[in-house]
Amino acid sequence: MNRAERYFARAEENGGPGHAFLLEGEDPGALLETAGRIARRVLCEKGTGCGTCASCRAALSGNHPDIITVTHEKPDTLSVNEIRRQLVDDMEIRPYRSARKIYLVPDAGKMNPQAQNALLKTLEEPPAYGMILLLADNRNRFLPTVLSRLVVLQADEAESEEDGGEAAGSSRLTGLLRRLQTADAAELAKAASELKAEGVSAEEAFELLTYLWRDELIVKAGGKTKLHFPEAADMLEDWARALSWKDADRIFTAIGEGKAKLKANGSPDVVLEVFLLELRELLRKA
Ligand SMILES: [Zn+2]
Repeated sequence: MNRAERYFARAEENGGPGHAFLLEGEDPGALLETAGRIARRVLCEKGTGCGTCASCRAALSGNHPDIITVTHEKPDTLSVNEIRRQLVDDMEIRPYRSARKIYLVPDAGKMNPQAQNALLKTLEEPPAYGMILLLADNRNRFLPTVLSRLVVLQADEAESEEDGGEAAGSSRLTGLLRRLQTADAAELAKAASELKAEGVSAEEAFELLTYLWRDELIVKAGGKTKLHFPEAADMLEDWARALSWKDADRIFTAIGEGKAKLKANGSPDVVLEVFLLELRELLRKA
């Protein structure tokens, strides 16, 4: 997952992803793969890009009617007619099967000024279902009027250490949390220091906890989709049954307090341990 994909993974919290994006990166192949994964996630029936639902399967086979890849005939130009026909006019037709209709535009930097101007009105007033992912090596290829309407996302860095660390960090944290209810204080302290030894700082742990607890509140409200930690859904459901809303809110507040204490130079080990103890007490009380 690169920066652009993370943006979409978390966009739900900001009311869902918007309409027009520029994915910027050097490698056209990698850009198109990234755009494909983003489109899959946005249209996925589970909201995750699961790869197994009907929508994901259609996307993976290249046959999703609501994912349109804009092509061009001349190698160096994406013409105004190509943009009009394949994107501007086509977008007026509602999606076939999904809530959104997504246009991928490889080589978007090859749009000449006419083509960019043709796109402008669609960028200004897209239908609610429309989404455009322009792919290009450099944002400077676009007219300022166009660029100002795009969310620019870096999209070509490979699976970076940061991202790999995040995935590994999540699984280490959820592993620890699964043992929480039965752990005694000494085991908890040990688990917290193991987390650190495995490269998950207290700051990162609280960052992950913020997302995990948003999931918990979604699950408690009866939802199951759009989870950041789908692999922990069973644990979150157990907790949702065990915790009252008041307890769940208390933990949400405690996560914020933990972050604040770390910012105020509280000892990371102690801050994390105190939080884990509080969560454990609430779970045990239930
Ligand atoms: Zn899916």
